Amino acid sequence: MEGLQFRRILLKLSGEALAGDQGTGIDPQAAGHIAERVREVRQMGVDVAIVIGAGNLWRGRTGIGLGMDRATADYMGMLATVMNALALMDALENIGVVTRVQSAIEMRSVAEPYIRRRAIRHLEKGRVVIFGGGTGNPYFSTDTAAALRAMEIDADVLIKATKVDGVYDSDPHRNPDAVRFDRLSYIETLNRRLEVMDSTAISLCMENKLPILVLNLWDETALRRALLGESSGTLVTA
Ligand code: UDP
Repeated sequence: MEGLQFRRILLKLSGEALAGDQGTGIDPQAAGHIAERVREVRQMGVDVAIVIGAGNLWRGRTGIGLGMDRATADYMGMLATVMNALALMDALENIGVVTRVQSAIEMRSVAEPYIRRRAIRHLEKGRVVIFGGGTGNPYFSTDTAAALRAMEIDADVLIKATKVDGVYDSDPHRNPDAVRFDRLSYIETLNRRLEVMDSTAISLCMENKLPILVLNLWDETALRRALLGESSGTLVTA
């Protein structure tokens, strides 16, 4: 398609993207909504890889709060991301989008193991690749996994999907005077501790000059507009 700003994207979805109104569990309708957005982007000819979190099912810090060992609680979180990856695969395949799930933690009967060159091959063939299992390591987040995978597959941008239309200087749900940024630098984002992604993920993007675009995936045109180079969301660059 003419005028495309980005040809290959890494879409980072938090687990909550798949949850219903309660913010927990998996809601097929929510998954279906995300799948529609992804299909539109595929139809524009953009290569799409996805990293999904697991906040709707389990977070390491929940376990820590219950007195669990950190690494064990984190491994549970990584396993939960594979459940979300399968749910998203199901929603995408339901509407005719060909997908492959790759997991950073081997579980060959449900997902391919993560193999970088194979993931790139899938993308070249027009398949949507969903990365489950985070980085495969405790003490990390799926934001960091998204930054890492984006670099590995040579994505043009990391798109962080949120439920607001970009990054604000304070929570727009609580503060009616909150100001939205069109653009930000990595350093400013880190220094002001703006809630874009965790600092490990932002640092990784900064070191490797990977732009981060924060946008509202629930706005049906936001992603499409961004890909066509129209103003949408907040762009974080050098
Ligand atoms: N996690 C991990 N290593 C990783 C990615 C994730 O240990 O590389 C664990 C961590 O416990 C985290 C949980 O998996 O809390 C779910 O991921 P995350 O909190 O990033 O999900 P999101 O907030 O995006 O839904």
